Amino acid sequence: MQFAPALLPSLIQAIDKTIETNAEEVTALDQAIGDGDHVTNLQRGIKALIAQSDELATLDWVAVWQKIGMTMMTAVGGASGSLYGTLFVAMSKAARERPLDLQVFAEIFTSGVDAVKQRGKADAGEKTMLDVLIPVAASLRQAAADSVALPVALDNVARTAIAGMESTRDMLATKGRASFLEERSRGHIDAGAKTSQLMICALVDVLAKHLTAPA
Ligand code: ADP
Ligand code: MG
Repeated sequence: MQFAPALLPSLIQAIDKTIETNAEEVTALDQAIGDGDHVTNLQRGIKALIAQSDELATLDWVAVWQKIGMTMMTAVGGASGSLYGTLFVAMSKAARERPLDLQVFAEIFTSGVDAVKQRGKADAGEKTMLDVLIPVAASLRQAAADSVALPVALDNVARTAIAGMESTRDMLATKGRASFLEERSRGHIDAGAKTSQLMICALVDVLAKHLTAPA
């Protein structure tokens, strides 16, 4: 696999940067239909990952995802902390030391997303981060099934994440705090869908640049 854990410090930096750049906008979203803490929650986790990033770079993917999952669970808090924690711990379990290619990664990510669905008792269409994660998992599986080139697969993932994030705007929230607002939850993008999209697009950018960088 062309992507080794040595890339983690730059991936985590890119995530930190995109969340920082969009912090005000996302906080406004979470204030509109949540309690306004989503960015602060996430940034606690990201800072903890930055502190661990040199160590993470020395581990294998199974250990990396386990450690990221535990860090998200303990540092982030809120609904999103346990959900992101669950995502990565389940990815670690599904990885089982297999060599990582697009097909295997698509399977691993799908297992992670399925675990988030179970943990949050939620599915697509409920105005949560799952409206980004579920279609992104499907896009990865499709790319693997069609054997598309990695840069194309990455581009599809970014487009899918953006479309998923946008799709939450008109949805009725049926899970999480936003569900308390019932019909008034419509008209605002879900904060967790937005941060998932931002993080996925930041990861795609770094990975795409890595693919085209001279060896
Ligand atoms: P809290 O809602 O506890 O304040 P955060 O603000 O950190 O936690 O995270 C809120 C985000 O978590 C929401 O925007 C939504 O995307 C996601 N979320 C909340 N509940 C669920 C759930 N049951 N399943 C999936 N995602 C959820
Ligand atoms: Mg919140």
